[in-house]
Amino acid sequence: MTDKQLQAASGLQLWQWRQRAIAGAMASHVSPNEVDWLLLEVAELDRLALRLESFKDWPEIPMSLPLEDLDQLWQRRLNEHLPVQYIAGVTPWRNFQLAVSNAVLIPRPETESLIDLTVAAATNSGAAPFLQSGHWADLGTGSGAIALGLADALPKATIHAVDYSPAALAIAQLNAHNAGLDHQIHFYQGSWWEPLASMKGQFSGMVSNPPYIPTSTVATLQPEVVKHEPHLALDGGADGLDCIRQLIDISPDYLRPGGVWLIEMMAGQADIVKKLLQKQGSYCNIQIHQDLAGIERFAVAYVSAEI
Ligand code: GLN
Repeated sequence: MTDKQLQAASGLQLWQWRQRAIAGAMASHVSPNEVDWLLLEVAELDRLALRLESFKDWPEIPMSLPLEDLDQLWQRRLNEHLPVQYIAGVTPWRNFQLAVSNAVLIPRPETESLIDLTVAAATNSGAAPFLQSGHWADLGTGSGAIALGLADALPKATIHAVDYSPAALAIAQLNAHNAGLDHQIHFYQGSWWEPLASMKGQFSGMVSNPPYIPTSTVATLQPEVVKHEPHLALDGGADGLDCIRQLIDISPDYLRPGGVWLIEMMAGQADIVKKLLQKQGSYCNIQIHQDLAGIERFAVAYVSAEI
């Protein structure tokens, strides 16, 4: 964080705050590890000093926010289930440190695999050579996580990242800039393929983590998610598949023959997604992949080559 040096607390103050915060976490059934994770993000502390508590004697520790503000936000963690990533304003994801606010979904660890699957899909022996370059779309980019992952993994490709939310796009652009990838990613405000209408038939690939939670299920998710994360990024309509159906139907107009289509989905949606892809008629080599927890989480398909 750039303004880390602007605030400071004494080691003793921070040590006392940590003791209170850990006690509060235990009383509220929050993992006490979150306290240390947060301190490592917002204070100029290293893991060893934290573990040995040697920072207790340090006269001054630079922080990215005043201790009173940190304490107020931590109380919201405990009382209002505010996710700790929104307090720190960052989350680690793949090799990136991504800025996050409540305008964007906090990128999930399982979504990291979508980038590995993309690289595998773009480099397998039967894949068209153009898959490693050309135009790629990240539809519903949110924090920009997938767009950054694609730019990093496919250095010859140009990434087009779309989101409906201008506030999300501002975060995604900041993340691209911080990662030094802004020259490789273009950003657009709009709905799915809509802002890319002039580029029909030109895309090597499309990757998306669309909203896929059924509307009635959204309210049953963890309070951290329901109360603080953007429902626009979660709610996939009555059966959760509204956005996925659109992406299945429209994408063949935008992808080149041999182009690849990859999405993340929810547990239990794989069979229907596979059937929808088959029914659309333009896709071949449809695959379902599991996440590290063994859940059928990703669908991959190629646009059939013209005969
Ligand atoms: N995986 C997210 C969750 O469990 C949902 C992400 C999405 O809808 N794309 O909250």
